[in-house]
Amino acid sequence: MSLVVVGSIALDTVITPKGRRDNAVGGSATFFSLSAERLTRVRIVGVVGSDFPEAALNEFRKRNIDLEGLEVKSGKTFRWGGEYRRNMKERETIYTELNVFETFDPHLPEAYKQTDVLFLANIHPALQLKVLDQMEADPLVGLDTMNLWINNSREELLQAIGRSHIIIINDEEIIQLTGMHYLVDAVRYVQELGPHTVIVKKGKYGAELFHYRQHGVYPICPEEILTDPTGAGDTFAGGFMGYLASRESRKLSYEDYHEAMIYGTVMASFLVESFSTDKLAAVTDREIRERLLMFRREIL
Ligand code: AMP
Repeated sequence: MSLVVVGSIALDTVITPKGRRDNAVGGSATFFSLSAERLTRVRIVGVVGSDFPEAALNEFRKRNIDLEGLEVKSGKTFRWGGEYRRNMKERETIYTELNVFETFDPHLPEAYKQTDVLFLANIHPALQLKVLDQMEADPLVGLDTMNLWINNSREELLQAIGRSHIIIINDEEIIQLTGMHYLVDAVRYVQELGPHTVIVKKGKYGAELFHYRQHGVYPICPEEILTDPTGAGDTFAGGFMGYLASRESRKLSYEDYHEAMIYGTVMASFLVESFSTDKLAAVTDREIRERLLMFRREIL
């Protein structure tokens, strides 16, 4: 099945106890695509400024990634800076510069409007809605979000959630969204809004899958060395949605969702081993296969 993602493409400055990286390629759509493209072709909807490195665009082009929906606008690329504390769980956003995102008005290429699977990665929910409005087919829709939009753009976010089938959200955000502290109540509340599938990410405690009334718990796959968790959620989402899109049809079983959780978890374990996309981009298919095997045999 075909897969479209809309999200941010960024230049990130990240500080962790392991060091820092300035103006590295990041953004939700970037991490998502580099993860999903291992399984299926990905079409990106997004925007970068004229300062975005051509070499980075060429890295996308060399892969299973279609950039027809990526706009290059005069001006500066979206920039984000963050710093992690010692346990790497707490992160402080140092700055968010919207730049070309401020006036971004996505116009999807014709082929994108017929996509089977659509992922609304973390960007302003108004942009997520603009992309949904352009769909001519009836895709399987996944959505990610963050605390900023839950606080500042709640109405638009609720509309976007109402039009989605799958939501990927972290444990703090689902409490913030629903006001409910008991996880199952919060999940049922979100399912009432629309999505049949809710994935709750719990950082180093892994993630939980709620698919209709079925439920599974997944630990993390141990990484070799934790260097920079930025983009782990997007990388998980890329592996998860990429796996679903690699199936033949929309008739997806619980087993498919279970496999997608495993794939997402393993891809995220590579991402965190380096700054930016270094490891995610370099990991070989063999390393992925081996870690999938190890995860199934020793962790699950
Ligand atoms: P995560 O670690 O999953 O929260 O994702 C981090 C990525 O999200 C970074 O690469 C940032 O560039 C991107 N990001 C941070 N804030 C925003 C925002 N407000 N809108 C879109 N993307 C963002």
